Amino acid sequence: MTTHAEDAGGLLNATAELIIAGRKIRLEMPVPAGPARLRNLLPFLRYLTDRFVDFSVENARTEGLSVSCKKGCGACCRQLVPISAIEAWRLGEVVEQMPEPRKSTILARFEEAKRRLQAAGLLEKLREPNRIGDDEVDPTGLAYFQQGIACPFLEDESCSIYEERPLACREYLVVSPAENCARPTVDSIEPVPLVVRVARTLRALNVEKNPSTPRWVALILALEQAEAAARLDEAPPQPGPELVREIFGRLAERDAGNG
Ligand code: SF4
Repeated sequence: MTTHAEDAGGLLNATAELIIAGRKIRLEMPVPAGPARLRNLLPFLRYLTDRFVDFSVENARTEGLSVSCKKGCGACCRQLVPISAIEAWRLGEVVEQMPEPRKSTILARFEEAKRRLQAAGLLEKLREPNRIGDDEVDPTGLAYFQQGIACPFLEDESCSIYEERPLACREYLVVSPAENCARPTVDSIEPVPLVVRVARTLRALNVEKNPSTPRWVALILALEQAEAAARLDEAPPQPGPELVREIFGRLAERDAGNG
């Protein structure tokens, strides 16, 4: 990978060239020039995710796979979506800035979802994700899906906060038949093979820099955890380009180690 940065007043226009699966990918994006925390890098992380997802979809096509996801299909928006704490913080801001009556409508949907999770005995469990063992993740996800709780941002089977949607939502595309998404099992869903996984790298980096942060936050609990998430993103700021280099380093490590 090669990187280069040019000053553009508060932001640096950073460029990077990577060779992935034998193909070159060129990235060009503005990043903060001065001290920054992970949450300030969210626009950059979204850009990275979108580029890597596009690249992965192209790759899948060359292998004869085709993506089943289409506009207006929101089956996956009834799943348990793990997001990073800084994304929970950002979703809190997004809802806070919504005009009325939309804000109240969204808040009411979040509350109703929590009421249903409480009735299903899942709410307290989701509030403590660090206690959910790796072998419990799939059963918990299936139990969640069985509740049929739509994401509060899902409207007419489309994402109403498309530009702000979390990285995990951006990365979730399948090549298995679309109808399987309505009745998912561990074996019936085949995701697009991602060349690089930004969402899980961000979750890991978020915890590394802020050890008291939960390793993931259920999207459905994002609002109740938004304030705590902001308080927890208090690692000393680093120069933006340094943070970007660290992110690329971690992506390369996790990709190589598949961790
Ligand atoms: S944020 Fe948008 S894409 Fe993600 S689960 Fe909710 S509605 Fe779906």
